[in-house]
Amino acid sequence: MTLEFDAAALANRATSALRAYDPGHDLPALRLRFGEMLSELGSNENPLGPSKSALRAANRAIEEVWRYPDPLGASLKRKLSDELGVPFAGITLGNGSHELLMLMAQCFADEAHPVVHSQYGFAVFPIAAAAAGASAVAVPALPADHPEAPYGHDLAAMAAAVTPATRLVYLANPNNPTGTWFTDAALEDFLERIPPQTLVVVDEAYHEYVDAEGLSTALHLLGRFPNLAVTRTFSKAYALAGLRIGYMLSHPSVAAVCERLRESFNVNGVALAAAEAALGDHEHRAHVRATNRRDRTWLAGELMARGLRVLPSQTNFLLVDLGDDATAFEAHLFERGVIVRPMVGYGLRHTLRISVGSRTELERLLENLP
Ligand SMILES: *Cc1c(COP(=O)(O)O)cnc(C)c1O
Repeated sequence: MTLEFDAAALANRATSALRAYDPGHDLPALRLRFGEMLSELGSNENPLGPSKSALRAANRAIEEVWRYPDPLGASLKRKLSDELGVPFAGITLGNGSHELLMLMAQCFADEAHPVVHSQYGFAVFPIAAAAAGASAVAVPALPADHPEAPYGHDLAAMAAAVTPATRLVYLANPNNPTGTWFTDAALEDFLERIPPQTLVVVDEAYHEYVDAEGLSTALHLLGRFPNLAVTRTFSKAYALAGLRIGYMLSHPSVAAVCERLRESFNVNGVALAAAEAALGDHEHRAHVRATNRRDRTWLAGELMARGLRVLPSQTNFLLVDLGDDATAFEAHLFERGVIVRPMVGYGLRHTLRISVGSRTELERLLENLP
């Protein structure tokens, strides 16, 4: 008799609750099929690419690839500390900010200490909670017809969902996939209502793109609220997604707890060098910001002129609300080499997320709309 072996039955409780990441389309195969005619508007990548000085730094660092990277990332942390005016001891580096979001749950949440996040909040939040064996409370989002933040975070309801046992709250500002945001003042009111034993993580992956009135960053609140942590990434505006590097700014004691679990060489040397150079290239950052702002406004106008509902966005993507199942719409674009991201996994099957790609890609999108 042969016994069938299936390790799925052996996975621990937390892992049993998880499913593997669904990468969507097979992009390498699509690049072969469509070549230059492929418009990749599904992953919020920066069409301008990284700073030239970041690429030069990466090339120099690759010569040292036989060495382990600096486990402290001290040089980059000094640069971040100078640029942002935050203490060195409050900086944690991650293999992408995804890793930092996971790390926070692993370090602080468990069966007895749940996590609160928003419905339609970034997908990693409930995954991080589940991986830590913690339950995740998804607070209903703002309504679809909300004037400022349709499908956005309902901060009042989230504050009300926090109990003395809640150890972690995840906020994304602006949020992916909605593109919506809340103001600095709204965050301040929220933090005033949260007990000190509940850590609040504000994911600012799109921080470099924001320009709305009343919205800047949670950073200036770090001094007043030691239970606040802010994550950022080099994947989006800095266009270093392939190198996997992000950072978290927090109270030094939060960083010290994370250090216990952080893999010692989690960030590679090429990423460290490129990120440091990228931070110093203010000109490139300003160019990326201005280009994105121009093209985001233009694209939103073009889509709305065709009768589509486009949600307000402070990011490098737009969420388009078709009001009806988006599957056929997405398939139509896909067959023509235009990749956009369906939001079925978020329970938003009537919407599509479209990255603000290059003008050529966006024009191809508009030409190929159903
Ligand atoms: C893209 C994104 C991230 C960043 O991911 P990395 O792991 O740093 O590449 C984090 N949060 C949100 C909301 C994002 O959209």
